[in-house]
Amino acid sequence: MYLESEIKNFSKKIGIDAIGITSAKPFNNVKRIFIDRVRRGFYKDLNYTIEKINFICNPKNMLTDAKSIISIALSYNVPIGEEKIEERENSYEYDIHSEERKTKKRGNTGIIAKFAWGIDYHKVLKNKLKILADFISSKLLNDSKKRFKYKILVDTGPIVDRAVANRAGIGWYGKNCNIITKRFGSWILLGEILTNLKLKPDEPNFENCGDCDLCIKACPTGAIISPYVIDVRKCISHITQKRGEIPLNLLEKIGRRIYGCDICQDVCPLNKEVEFVEKDYFLPIPPRGKNINLLPLVCMSEIEFNRWFKNSAISWVGKDVLRRNAIIALGNVGESNSMVFLSKATEDRDEIIRKYASWAINKIKNR
Ligand code: SF4
Ligand code: SF4
Repeated sequence: MYLESEIKNFSKKIGIDAIGITSAKPFNNVKRIFIDRVRRGFYKDLNYTIEKINFICNPKNMLTDAKSIISIALSYNVPIGEEKIEERENSYEYDIHSEERKTKKRGNTGIIAKFAWGIDYHKVLKNKLKILADFISSKLLNDSKKRFKYKILVDTGPIVDRAVANRAGIGWYGKNCNIITKRFGSWILLGEILTNLKLKPDEPNFENCGDCDLCIKACPTGAIISPYVIDVRKCISHITQKRGEIPLNLLEKIGRRIYGCDICQDVCPLNKEVEFVEKDYFLPIPPRGKNINLLPLVCMSEIEFNRWFKNSAISWVGKDVLRRNAIIALGNVGESNSMVFLSKATEDRDEIIRKYASWAINKIKNR
């Protein structure tokens, strides 16, 4: 059997949902498009400079003698029946959350994007990629084994992750800029192995969305400014993960979202009736999941933040970003009993927290 087939067969055994291979040639098309977007200011918040785009669009900058890229996708489309969530919540040590959960489903509750409900996907992907790289090494003859070099990449730049997956045939670009696969829709996370092995590449995926424009219409902030173009500065997924201030005109549009945004994926017809995956590590770990209680987040301590969000992708944004987001969400949906928490936050040492707590109090009073 050819090495490429062995790699693909093995990947299924370790729970990789889609895999494809492409060359390590530079991604020049992507580079041109993204340099244009940097010039238009869309990536200002991300600190993407033209130098950085040039760097990440050429795989050889990350591994000098790179010849191939193995792209993988893991679906996080776990079944989330209420009974499943209940079962996990019951086995979790809870304190102030539990009372609230029994009585309410909405009210003072926020939304976390689905990809962040379980264990930090960086860890999961890196682990799968390492097992795959070890398998490849085990299949090489002694001489080739010594020469085998590889680099595991996860989130080195979402731009390139998607371009790699597209060129490796894993899926096509949706108009919301997500990569869409036939079996799992866009509920996937991407990672790569860059290697000096010469492997036979797969065909790129040229499918497209046709006439559909549901995601463009559904985006609450108008961030999808035209098909395949997102102004990152307006995207809730980005806004809820960045530090600092948020433009006033976007605060209401964020709604109850405190980390990420699934709207343009939820409305996508290609995400309906896709396969579910049975993966414990992507199931919600309370308090993450549906309808997170916002009140305890407003004044949470570092210890509480670590207890509730350790091992989650959310841990990367830090406590105060999540507190700010919870406060904004309360401004948008909070009930009068949230006032006591927000008032306390108006005396916080952090200026941003004080500012949005006052904003939220005014919003609730005016409702
Ligand atoms: S993630 Fe949300 S805000 Fe961003 S483009 Fe999609 S719908 Fe719009
Ligand atoms: S909602 Fe429609 S246009 Fe948007 S990604 Fe899905 S199929 Fe494409």
